[in-house]
Amino acid sequence: MSNGKSRKVAIVVPFLNEQENLPLLYDRLAKAMDGQPEAWEILFVDDGSTDGSAQWAADKSRADQRVTLLRLSRNFGHQIAITAGLDHVAADAAVVLDADLQDPPEVIPELLQKWREGADVVYAVRAERQGETWIKKFLAASFYRVFRWLVKVDVPANAGDFRLMDAKVVAAMKQVRELHRFMRGLTSWVGFTHAAVYYNREPRHAGHTKYPVWKSLQLALDAVTSFSGTPLRWIMGAGVVVSFGGVLFALRLVTMKLTGQGEAVPGWTSQVALLLILSGVQLVCLGMLGQYVSRVFEESKKRPLYFVKEKVGHITAP
Ligand code: UDP
Ligand code: MG
Repeated sequence: MSNGKSRKVAIVVPFLNEQENLPLLYDRLAKAMDGQPEAWEILFVDDGSTDGSAQWAADKSRADQRVTLLRLSRNFGHQIAITAGLDHVAADAAVVLDADLQDPPEVIPELLQKWREGADVVYAVRAERQGETWIKKFLAASFYRVFRWLVKVDVPANAGDFRLMDAKVVAAMKQVRELHRFMRGLTSWVGFTHAAVYYNREPRHAGHTKYPVWKSLQLALDAVTSFSGTPLRWIMGAGVVVSFGGVLFALRLVTMKLTGQGEAVPGWTSQVALLLILSGVQLVCLGMLGQYVSRVFEESKKRPLYFVKEKVGHITAP
């Protein structure tokens, strides 16, 4: 390999409209990586950008051999863009990095150090989140708590997609082809040796987030439904409790009548209230079932996860 460096690290950077961030990202990455004993390359994944970022990355790729660009045929979403990147990695390790500089490239040498010491997956755990709205921080904190409690897979709290994976983990991930994918969960699920590095999450360098609250909620829902059937058991539990309560109530009414304590007051308020509550519960349960059914439907179609529009630079993997 080049410069007599024996091992190579690929940095996978999925982006959607990040033209103000890519040039600085490249500079900071190059600076952080040049001192490392491993050779490196950047694999940009254009997730359907409509600004000048894909053009910038293509030009960069023609100017710098170490830069390659994979362009998806449209916007497929962050998780799929990461997947596409990992699918095209040919290196001894891969690092997934956001393009907005919220994941500081200067942390990568620390990830590499843990990898050299033998870890197969090195998470970058956020010690602090700057420049994010309180609602997002609150949602993130509650999500990790609920997810860890629900799912038997041990996903470290506050580790985003910023992480290093050894080639064997990348190979394992390539075999997981489900459509609704929560990459953080999957890297835990595949196993291997894990280690963590702590860092401060910086505010976005420029541009605005492509993960509004509703998209984050959708990711959370995907995470839960793709890793756990527990909500289905809750539905059953709720159903059992509610029907048991109903039976008790009916029994009480009958005994009241038989023992001459009078008939139940024919008030309709309580009935209407019960009706509303119960139909609400039923709708929620149906909705939750629907979430799983629709995922079964989506997965059963077995569509490809993404399509590649263009490859720029030397991408060796298929
Ligand atoms: N991104 C992407 N496709 C999308 C949405 C986002 O490739 O559909 C990229 C985005 O350009 C960035 C990373 O994913 O590099 C994380 O997105 P963002 O910073 O908007 O999310 P946040 O950090 O606010 O959760
Ligand atoms: Mg961001």
